[in-house]
Amino acid sequence: MSLNIKTWNRASNNLGKELEFLIPIIQGLGKLDVHLSKRYPQKEKLDKLKNNVFLSYLWILGAYEVVRTIHEKSKRKGLLVQRQASIQRLKKNFAKLRIPLAKMEYVGKEGSDLIPLPMIIDDVIGWKIKNEMITREEMSFCLFEFLLSLEIDNRCPSCGSYDTDIFGILEKREGYLRCLTCKDRHNIPFKNTRK
Ligand SMILES: [Zn+2]
Repeated sequence: MSLNIKTWNRASNNLGKELEFLIPIIQGLGKLDVHLSKRYPQKEKLDKLKNNVFLSYLWILGAYEVVRTIHEKSKRKGLLVQRQASIQRLKKNFAKLRIPLAKMEYVGKEGSDLIPLPMIIDDVIGWKIKNEMITREEMSFCLFEFLLSLEIDNRCPSCGSYDTDIFGILEKREGYLRCLTCKDRHNIPFKNTRK
């Protein structure tokens, strides 16, 4: 599934009334994501992508603030309380890149020294953290997948728990729900079939 401005706008609306303030912010991040994910002809690729490194850095910091707010609100706000497992996972994923970029530290190691080197491999901008390259696009997929998962009834059909993780919906808009309480796996139907 390729992300465009329309798919971002639609997914952002899944946040609903409770976090209405964040909707236009996510739509802005979506617009920038589409710009930063653009593919360029070989000849001009390197120059264009180099110009996008700083914007990619800003994208990560901005998106992280949104994720952090969703995480904070999920401790109190009705609907999101049921999403805590996936919100926790989203925040943890973002931290892998955000902490090195914002603090020049390894995740979970306060006071450590890390210089995250920006890298461009193929068409994608990322940073070398330890021996791994983490890309901005991975983070944007994580955020998008979370927003899309809000269209799903995430209650475990076996035991009724909301403590579930949702996997693999981005590619085909289908995937599975893994219950963290009874460990069952279920296919997940979408609540609606908005295209
Ligand atoms: Zn269950």
